[in-house]
Amino acid sequence: MTPEDLKPLVRTIPDFPKPGILFRDVTTLMGHGEGFAAAVGMMADKVQACEGQAIAGIEARGFIFGAAIAAKLAMPFIPVRKPGKLPVPVLAIDYALEYGTDTLEVDPGAVVDGSRIVLIDDLLATGGTALAACELLRRAGGVVAEALFLVDLPDLGGAERLRRAGVAVEALLDYP
Ligand code: IMP
Repeated sequence: MTPEDLKPLVRTIPDFPKPGILFRDVTTLMGHGEGFAAAVGMMADKVQACEGQAIAGIEARGFIFGAAIAAKLAMPFIPVRKPGKLPVPVLAIDYALEYGTDTLEVDPGAVVDGSRIVLIDDLLATGGTALAACELLRRAGGVVAEALFLVDLPDLGGAERLRRAGVAVEALLDYP
């Protein structure tokens, strides 16, 4: 399979979660065994190409792809969580949403000082979530080798924003 073969497996839902938003739903790709395995395999190849040593996944869909990639490569998996979920003292970062703010948290003990971490999420839109996660991992002592996504929406400028912040970015699929 090629990335082009994966594109039809992503479902597009108009007006979700709000009118005017075209939601790219990757759960249909996850529901296609061969497609899911191919996506995980292609993303794992990219992790190896950038010499990643650990995988960080953003809750929640970043856990699904990130954990599968980490297990395939026998690499540590670092959960980047929504607030209040981790049972230990955490490092936290707030970031701006369209309306209001959100928070991500990580267990600093899960990050080996100086290790090359590949950040995984299902989809890159404006880049606000991924940028906050990269900053959090850096504060925890990690080096973000790359931010890797199944889907990029380039018109929303996330990849550009991440690159300006010094983060290498890759995605399997884009929807201009
Ligand atoms: P950003 O912070 O604007 O880049 O938004 C990315 C985050 O929102 C990711 O964690 C995605 O899972 C989620 N997201 C935003 N738009 C979509 C979409 O169209 N489909 C699936 N997830 C989305």
